[in-house]
Amino acid sequence: MPEPSLQPLPEKPDHPALEREMLARWEAEGTFEKLRERNRGGPTFSFMDGPITANNPAGVHHGHGRTLKDVFQRYKAARGHELRYQNGFDSQGLHVEVEVERSLGLNSKREIERYGLAAFARKCRERVAHYSAVMTRQSKRLGMWMDWGNDYFTFSDTNIEYIWRFLQEVHRRGWLYKGHAAAQWCPRCGTSLSKHEQAGEENYAWLEHPSLFVRFPLRGRDGESLVVWTTTPWTLPANVAAAVRPDAEYGRNDAGEWVAVARYPEEHFDRRVRGQELVGLEYEGPFDHLPAQRGIVHRVLPWADVSLEEGTGIVHIAPGCGAEDFELSRLHGLPVLMPIDEAGVLLPDYGELAGLTTEEAVVPVVTSLRERGRLVEATSVSHRYPICWRCSTPLVFRVVDDWFISADEIRQPLLDGNATVEWTPPQYKKRMDDWLRNMGDWNISRRRYFGLPLPFYECACGHLTVIGSRAELEERAVSGLEQLEELHRPWIDAVRIRCERCGGEVERIPEVGDAWLDAGIVHFSTLGWRNPTWIPGGYATGASRGLSGADLPDHAYWERWFPADWVSEMREQIRLWFYSQCFMAITLAGRQPYRRVLTYEKVYDEQGREMHKSWGNAIELDDALERMGADVMRWLYCSQPPSQPLRFGYGLAEEVKRRFLTFWHSARFLVEYANVAGFRPAWRELEPRDLSAPLDRWLVERTHALVRTAEAAYEAYDTVGVTRAFEAYVDDLSNWYIRRSRRRFWSDDEAALRTLWYALVQALRVVAPIQPFVADHLWRTLVVDGPESVHLAGWPEAREPNRALLAEIDEVRRVVELGRQARSTAGIKLRQPLRRLVVEGARLDGHLDEVADELRVKEVELGQVEAVEVRVKPNLPVLGPRLGKDLPAVRAALAAGEFEQLEGGRFRAAGLELAPDEVLVERSGREGWAIASGDGVTVALDLGLDDELRLEGEAYELIHRVNSLRRERGLQLTDRIVLTVPEAQRRLVERHGAWIAREVLATEVRLGPALDLERS
Ligand SMILES: [Zn+2]
Ligand SMILES: [Zn+2]
Repeated sequence: MPEPSLQPLPEKPDHPALEREMLARWEAEGTFEKLRERNRGGPTFSFMDGPITANNPAGVHHGHGRTLKDVFQRYKAARGHELRYQNGFDSQGLHVEVEVERSLGLNSKREIERYGLAAFARKCRERVAHYSAVMTRQSKRLGMWMDWGNDYFTFSDTNIEYIWRFLQEVHRRGWLYKGHAAAQWCPRCGTSLSKHEQAGEENYAWLEHPSLFVRFPLRGRDGESLVVWTTTPWTLPANVAAAVRPDAEYGRNDAGEWVAVARYPEEHFDRRVRGQELVGLEYEGPFDHLPAQRGIVHRVLPWADVSLEEGTGIVHIAPGCGAEDFELSRLHGLPVLMPIDEAGVLLPDYGELAGLTTEEAVVPVVTSLRERGRLVEATSVSHRYPICWRCSTPLVFRVVDDWFISADEIRQPLLDGNATVEWTPPQYKKRMDDWLRNMGDWNISRRRYFGLPLPFYECACGHLTVIGSRAELEERAVSGLEQLEELHRPWIDAVRIRCERCGGEVERIPEVGDAWLDAGIVHFSTLGWRNPTWIPGGYATGASRGLSGADLPDHAYWERWFPADWVSEMREQIRLWFYSQCFMAITLAGRQPYRRVLTYEKVYDEQGREMHKSWGNAIELDDALERMGADVMRWLYCSQPPSQPLRFGYGLAEEVKRRFLTFWHSARFLVEYANVAGFRPAWRELEPRDLSAPLDRWLVERTHALVRTAEAAYEAYDTVGVTRAFEAYVDDLSNWYIRRSRRRFWSDDEAALRTLWYALVQALRVVAPIQPFVADHLWRTLVVDGPESVHLAGWPEAREPNRALLAEIDEVRRVVELGRQARSTAGIKLRQPLRRLVVEGARLDGHLDEVADELRVKEVELGQVEAVEVRVKPNLPVLGPRLGKDLPAVRAALAAGEFEQLEGGRFRAAGLELAPDEVLVERSGREGWAIASGDGVTVALDLGLDDELRLEGEAYELIHRVNSLRRERGLQLTDRIVLTVPEAQRRLVERHGAWIAREVLATEVRLGPALDLERS
């Protein structure tokens, strides 16, 4: 036997082990560097990575996004594009702070300040340094090729300075303002939160809150009162007004209580008036005895938006505790009482309630109302309530001064920009439009510590300076520069500048910026926008020094790489990163920062439930990598549509592994037979030249079709298209080409070996972006004299395939499939030969023998199938979406047998025409026949058996058993045997002995007591 030319493959791959080995080889051989070298100077493909929060280990949902990014970067690299491969880490802001607080056991802003801002800033950096290293390791393990070590970190001074520049520009345009407004406030984090941070569905929870009906006695109308409803008792001490709907009808009940009639249709009212008539009445407030309420006159106000869907139709107004209340206070000149401080604790002038949290105040408020006869009813209600996106604390409203960027002028340019973007899936484009149309002004200030320091210097004289760079700060500074370690608190706070209007010294405002400013600027900060000279290592400044070696390129580089050809993040980023980067790019450059987007939904468990640690169904990324392997995970991520929640779990992973084995076995089959035949594939003759066998011709065409289909799918950012094309190809390769060619492989047919080798090699190049490890492993097994890695082999060239030939074989395969179905319905094994098959609705030119052979029938005829009964069912996945509400009628008609058969396998039912692929057809045949049909083709199998057929069936059965036995005994493919057949099968041996001997490589067939074999 010749020396094996190809390395033998095991029965199945050990994915994690194989992947670790591949990682080591890529590292040792510098595969990624070679790829970058190969593509240097090629056409650019500009991908901008949205920064990942380096805060915790990556989860399987991060694995999803990172896989998609890697898949398309690998594909574009295979096509010869030059890429940047810069990874980004989001490294400052509330999410980092909250985690550090937790790890240090701090739970309030006071505790952070006591701990010390400098030490706190260092701890934040330390956490980012640690987890960016962890995420780098995890991402590499997942197979993500990035320019690791040259990452951008949003907390670099360079990044911060670029945001300063943006803010200065925003100020120059007059868009920057300080707003006194009611904001959603997290009492634990001690900061307001912006609408875009809080907009996601996950930022709401069903919470149980008190439900109070409270009496407000009317002044000068003895025994009469208004009744209001509230779920936030702590806001009652800040009440200043009650609102009614002017056009609604209000009634006074027997107890003298006024409520909206629409809310109490059963109630008896002795007086009814329009709301308008109640406007202007004065009432006694619920907590007039508190110092905070001194001098407040409570009146009834008109408000058209009073709801008649809940409560009493009379609304308690506390302008310091709600957004709409605050708006009304502006309209009517109401006093604004702010009952709570930053931590959600009632202030000193709230008497007996002072020092209590909003929750602690519930019982004293209820008790006080009850004792004073003001409580009508106290129960509780469960409702959907906003919680902090970072720490899940229920939010409150506070009226505070925040910094905003006005969205008015930029709204239309943002919409125009979005109109130029290609979204995948396309329906998300509209979601972006909706967000842009409805977004409010951008609240950019946070009362926190380790974040972008807003460069706003508000002088006592009223003049506002916005600093645009560190150089400008240095020029304007009067003190504090010497200790400025980096552009973070507390160091930046110590730098004072001189006011250019009055000459006074000015401090920076204490607020830091929204983290989406940090991420939005990276199209400028990492690409060297308006930077005159290239600075090696120049991006990695401030806190990112020592963590990254990223350069600050020059402006020409920005020109080359901006805008991004493609970005990809989760759908929630529409209101976050997708939005902030557009806002900043359109402001600074007047251009959309990206051309295409791929966005996707969340990762769920196998049952389609959200993953939660507390539910016990969360999967750690590291566990998945070690138990499933990265290739299997990547397949799971890529084979499901991005517009639906992605299902992820170990059961699904087993399914992926099982399906992948078909391809693995095809490769293993080639390796075995190539080694037996001493076949040596040659890379320079990739496409086989000897195509005298029709099946070889077909496989070459089929391979071109695979490349074409996959290419179109990759170009459309459609991973599902690629995985489907690959799986269909593997089925054709294994269950048609190899099945039909087995004999040629047994006889060392070089053309077959060469064709199969070509097909496998091309398929590996197609699938390599999605399964980079196993594809490269098999590549290195099969390709001995070509590129050393599949990732250096480039994208396969493909011409337009011969579609007619492909359609012809598709038809043959369909007939064979139906034939198998008919056999299995009748319960007759494929090993039992049958007499006859009749085929209706297919041409099968020149393929009758193939069909006969595949289905083990003596003859195949084309003709009419006489069916006794036809049953038609709707093919729901196809028909459902098309028919929609018409489906039930069609379904009922089909079930009742009320349908008409039309030409070409079509049907008509309930007045609608149904295509062949929209129905499932069962035909029961005449006695002794099995029938199957689909897609307009019907086959009928003659089930009649005679002695000759039975004996042949026995022979096939024996061959099968002997071949199993050969494998069990560990015989090589080429080993010859002496076969012993039981005496009882003498007739079989007499009739078919020579044939059996040929099939099982027996040099001799003997009769004996039992079936046995030995090596001859
Ligand atoms: Zn919070
Ligand atoms: Zn001044």
